[in-house]
This record gives sequence, C-alpha cells and structure tokens, in this order.
Amino acid sequence: MPGNVLSDNKKNMKITSNILKHVDFLRQKINDYNYQYYVLDDPSVSDAEYDLLLRELQAIEAEYPSIVTPDSPTQRVGAAPLKEFAEVEHQIPMLSLENAFTDEEVLAFDQRVHDRLGQEHEIEYSCEPKLDGLAVSLRYENGVFVRGATRGDGATGEDVTENLRTIRTLPLKLHGKDFPEVLEVRGEVYMPKAGFAKLNANAEKKGEKIFANPRNAAAGSLRQLDSHITASRPLSIFCYGVGVVVGKKLPLLHSEILQSLKSWGLPVSAEASVVHGIHQCLAYHAEIGKKRLKLAYDIDGVVYKVNSIKEQDRLGFVSRAPRWALAHKFPAEQVQTVIESVEFQVGRTGALTPVARLKPVSVAGVIVSNATLHNMDEVRRKEIHIGDTVIIQRAGDVIPEVVSVVKLANAKHLKKITLPKDCPVCHSAVEQIEGEAIARCSGGLFCPAQRKEGIKHFASRRALDIEGLGDKLVEQLVDESLIANVADLYSLTLDQLANLDRMGEKSAQNLLNALEKSKKTTLARFLYALGIREVGEATAKNLANHFGDLPPLFDATEESLQEISDVGPVVAKHIVSFFAEPHNDKVIHQLQAIGVHWPILDKSQQKHPLAGKTFVLTGSLETLSREEAKEKLESLGAKVAGSVSAKTSCVVVGADAGSKFKKAKELGVETMDEQAFLQFLQDLDS
Ligand code: NAD
Repeated sequence: MPGNVLSDNKKNMKITSNILKHVDFLRQKINDYNYQYYVLDDPSVSDAEYDLLLRELQAIEAEYPSIVTPDSPTQRVGAAPLKEFAEVEHQIPMLSLENAFTDEEVLAFDQRVHDRLGQEHEIEYSCEPKLDGLAVSLRYENGVFVRGATRGDGATGEDVTENLRTIRTLPLKLHGKDFPEVLEVRGEVYMPKAGFAKLNANAEKKGEKIFANPRNAAAGSLRQLDSHITASRPLSIFCYGVGVVVGKKLPLLHSEILQSLKSWGLPVSAEASVVHGIHQCLAYHAEIGKKRLKLAYDIDGVVYKVNSIKEQDRLGFVSRAPRWALAHKFPAEQVQTVIESVEFQVGRTGALTPVARLKPVSVAGVIVSNATLHNMDEVRRKEIHIGDTVIIQRAGDVIPEVVSVVKLANAKHLKKITLPKDCPVCHSAVEQIEGEAIARCSGGLFCPAQRKEGIKHFASRRALDIEGLGDKLVEQLVDESLIANVADLYSLTLDQLANLDRMGEKSAQNLLNALEKSKKTTLARFLYALGIREVGEATAKNLANHFGDLPPLFDATEESLQEISDVGPVVAKHIVSFFAEPHNDKVIHQLQAIGVHWPILDKSQQKHPLAGKTFVLTGSLETLSREEAKEKLESLGAKVAGSVSAKTSCVVVGADAGSKFKKAKELGVETMDEQAFLQFLQDLDS
C-alpha cells in the first residue's frame, strides 16, 4: 500500500496528483473489500483492517471536500444486490450507522446532537445491543408478511422473502388488530453462537469451507437461491425500527415503537433500555459489555438512538447514516492462554508463516487453538517464545492474533522460536531477502505446499470458480500425484476422480462439468487466478482493462506497467518476472490449448471509455477553453450537455460557477474542479 500521503501541512496543500492517486487506490480497495464482504459474504481482511482504510479515506475527504464523489464508499451503504435475486427498491433508504470506538467520540456525538437541536438539557436515548448480522426490511400488509429484502446498497436490496419465511421467530402474521395497514419493519437477521459453532464443526468435518464469523454465516445462509438450505440453518431475527408506515400513526418515542412491534409479535431485544444523558449511555455500554459473553448471540457494540421521533426528524441524515444514532463498538475481545508449540505453514508464494498452537481457549464464544504470528519480525518485536503466556484477540475474523506477551516472573522452560533452515514440507532451503519481513521456501513448484496453495487459489471463487474443487480434494490430488499444476486439472478423468476418497461417480461428473464450465472466463479472473505476487483482484482488473488480451501484457516492460493505476515498481517487477519464467509460459499455453478462453476487449471500446456518459461544463476553466474541454470529452466518447439533470454523469466546475453547480449538488450529481478534471483526463490517457 502506498504510504499515507497526508502531511502536517496538509491544510495548505493543493490537491496533488499523488493525493488523487491515493484516494483512487483507497476507494478501489474498499470497494473490493465491500464486494467480498457484502456480496460474497466472504471477507478477505479483518474488520479492523477495513475500518482503518475507510477512516483514512474519510479523513482525506474531510480535508478536501471537493474530491468527494457520490459513488465514494464513504457516501454509500453496503454493495449492489446480487443479480440472481429479484430487486426490491426501498421507498425509505436503509442506512448504516455512524461508528464510535472511544468515549470521546461518543461525547462528541452527543455534543453535535445538542448543537443541532439547540438544546441544553440532557437528551433521552434508547440504547440497544448492536446485533452482528445483516439488516433486512420486512413488509406486512394488513398484518400479513408479504415481502422481505436485504439492505443491499441501501436504495435497492434483494428479494429474500422465501428465505425469511423459514425463520421460525419471524411471524408470518402479526398479532392483534391495531397494526398499520402497511408496516415495514427493519431488523437484523443473525445466527446464534451455538448454531454457528455447530454449522462450522459440521463443515470442517466434511472438508467444506467454514464461515469467518456468525455475521458471514447469517448473511451466507439468508442469501441462498435455494430456501431449503436457508431452512436448515439456525437463523433468528431481532427488530429495531420501522420504514414505510401507512394507515396508522405510530408513537412519537422510538422506545414505544419497539413496544408496539413487540405487541404485534415481532421479536425485539430484551436488552433495550431508555436512558437520560450520554453518561448513562456509557454506563449501558459497560453493562452490556460485561454481559456480552453470556448472550446467546454475537454483538459488536451497542446503538444509541435519540428517543424522540420529532427530534430524530429535525436531526435528519447524512449520506450514509442518520444523525440521531450512533454505534458504539466494543474493542476486540482479548483472552489469556499459553503457546504450546509453533509450526511454520507454507503459503502459495512459499511464504513461511509461524503459527502458534495454543492451549485451547474460548474467545468471543469460539474455541481457539491456533493464532497467527504473522512473520519472524513480529515474533522478535513482541518477544514471543514457546511456553509464553500471551494475550490473544479475535477481531471479527476467524484467525486470532497474539497481541502481547504477559511477562511472568516465574516463567520457566521458555523456548526461542527459530526460523527453520529448510522448508518443513519439501526441505528446500529457506531464503530471506534482506529488508523483507517474510522468509520463503525456495522450492517453487517443486514444493507440494506451494503447488497445493497455487491450485486452491486458481480454483477459488474469485478466480476460475471451479465448484466442488475444495481444499481437501486439491490436497488429495497432489498427494496422489494425479496433478502437478493447474493445467493438469483439465486432464483428470471420471475414473481417476470417482476412485478418490469421499467421491462418488456423481460428484466426479459434477466436478468435470464444473471444470468444463470454468474454461469460459474473463481475462481479469484469469490473471488473478495465475497468482502473480501482489496482483490482487483490483490490479488484475486494471491490467485486463489496459491490455485487453494476454499478448500485449507478455510484452509489457516494467516501465510501461507502472503507467497503470495501482501498479508500482515492485508489482511491475513481479509481473515481468512471472511471464519471463518458462514454466509459467508453458502452463498458460497448455491452459489455452485446453480451451480456457476469455472475451478480448475491443480496442475501439477502450478508446471511448466515456461512452454513455454525459458531462456538463460550468464556470471558466484556467488551463483550457470550454471548446477544448468539450472536444476532449467528446473524443473520449462522452456527450457534453448544456444543462444539469439527474441523468448527468458529472459536472466540471470552473471559477465563478453558478446555478449549474448548485443544481448538481442538489441532485447529488458528481462534480470535479479543474484540477480533478485534468487529473481525470490524464488517468484516462495512461
Ligand atoms: P455496521 O454494521 O457498523 O452498522 C449498521 C448496521 O447495524 C445496520 O445496518 C444494522 O444492520 C445493524 N444493527 C444491528 N443492531 C442494530 C440496532 N439495534 N439498531 C440499528 N441498527 C442495528 O455498518 P455496516 O455498514 O453494515 O457495516 C460496516 C461494518 O462492516 C464495519 O464495521 C466493517 O468493519 C465491516 N466490514 C468489513 C469488511 C471486511 O472486508 N472485513 C468489509 C465491509 C464492511
């Protein structure tokens, strides 16, 4: 990741191309993580790591408001719905919540509420646990459950009515008679801790993928195309608010609305409580924090809501969250245990990761017996030994980490952790390049561990997506020497597969079908699947868009690669050396000969990257005339219009801009100042 580009004198700094490039990088990374988290229910980084990136982007955008775009991840909720589900438009948007991690941030929130309401006296808040699941909207018409949807991107969600019907605690008919004609209830679908542990234990036994946490398990279970699968998962729901209401006035206090929901048979958390003033909110946070482990479900914090609906209305919303509510998150749970031994795991690129085998301990409701130590620098920095008593934490993800060592005066039998000289799997020499934290096995494809990880990566969902080729199966195929590289997968026969452990003829045939299906892919997926070091999904997409096909990428130099957004000197070097390696060249040709293919990007399309977009120019530009700007945009395929409407893609704002700028703001249309516009053109040129 490029370093933080903000410096102390940032206030005086102009928006440089470095800042724009870094913002672009952050947005792309966050969008990728959002997609993995919200759409695939399969996060690739911890929540803490994600939150850090989002906060960095928020800080930069707060410093330079002119670079905020309506599609920036700071302005949006979640991610667009999956195409496989019917779409449901939310008449009232489903928003996220503003987050606070410290007491100071909570006090600042209360101050803002006071200031906006112009109120001196203490505010009444409704406090509730913050369930860690996924938000849904339930529509009842005349008391009958007619439709349920996920939050999606806040404006449009997925129709999951049939799946929601399988949740036993969700009433299909409301109790009593005094409910509104139309009632939209907002709530959180979650998976209780016990059910989650059982689901993962079963998956592990069968060698299937386990869920990172109860939140992902709940989301993955609800967003199934087959509602029978959802029915077999232990899901539950708590309701915490309302959307559209027709035909009846609801009470004017949030807490009383919750009581009404309860009286109609909807499950509401028993922990909800009304308090006076922000200090009582903090006391509530502490109290629930103590109870947290005993609760049957995972919570990641508490939510404070201004209780008066009239005051809520006066406070209103910002782009992605209401101003009247705050999520006060809990810090990651930490517990103490002992390191019994340390093993080194070999990854896809040969990287050796020290993994601590721990005396099993329960963290946030999950039994933990392994923790990553990341690398040897980390081991030295934290002074970790075998036999040490350590503090570990899990922060929203499955693999816990060692936070620190507890220095005990009577600690005995401590053993130093040393990097092995030889790979624990293939016994090739272990190398560590000076200045790099990571040591690697030098065995390359000779090392079965690297081979296995490379093949698993190739088959993974975001790469060639070969359904049915799970981790255990890959290990078996390599161990039994049926395959040595990814191209060999496509020569496997029905007989070979059907004779493997836990494989019948039917599963073998299904796998052959999945392999056949995977041959039709995209260049971006293929490049990602190759597992070139430092080439993640975002970089693979940029490479694919830039080159359109493989041959020009084969010929690219380190210099030319660095013109692509996201590609620095290190990544460029990895790409060039990957394609220079004869073995890789051979495997790629074998894959193409077997029939792996992708649509070649039409170069004329590449020359018109703004096709379908409408721009409006307003105010005077310093460095180019209106006509020049217009010609430039049109040559890139854009239409240049004279007035702003909701259909306008972007308004370029020069000096002394007037009503068009105002209109763009009102309609939420993206705007760019001259500098951002020039940078934008330059990026398109590269
Ligand atoms: P959020 O989960 O922080 O808060 C908003 C949500 O809280 C609401 O939409 C609602 O679903 C839920 N909620 C639970 N109890 C509630 C209550 N009593 N009242 C109101 N709402 C309640 O926000 P988010 O936008 O859903 O997700 C952001 C979080 O997801 C961040 O903490 C981030 O770390 C994580 N995330 C992680 C990754 C990753 O790759 N690891 C990617 C994206 C997001």
